[in-house]
Amino acid sequence: MSDCIFCRIINNEIPSNKVYEDEHVVAFKDIDPLAAVHIVVVPKTCCLHFHKTEDNILAHIMSAIKKIVVEQDLVDKGYRLVNNNGIDGGQTVDHVHFHILGGEKLGSNLTG
Ligand SMILES: [Zn+2]
Repeated sequence: MSDCIFCRIINNEIPSNKVYEDEHVVAFKDIDPLAAVHIVVVPKTCCLHFHKTEDNILAHIMSAIKKIVVEQDLVDKGYRLVNNNGIDGGQTVDHVHFHILGGEKLGSNLTG
């Protein structure tokens, strides 16, 4: 069993509220939401950082995010996409991930 909480979510070892899944990507509602809509998007392959993630996987994640923001009805009013990396970037889980924040007017310091 992995120690990585996102890998455990991907493997359905712990429950989550999934909103999207395909062959490379899983997206689920953040358990501690910072906005009315707060979705975490992760690749199924565990990789630490954005800069270490394969380009084709990043492209796939971006494509999935486009579908999710449409499905979540975020396009008209807007949303924020956040990717934190490393200690200075405030990364809290060592599995590259993107936050989709929206559903309300976001503050300037809200960074996922
Ligand atoms: Zn992981």
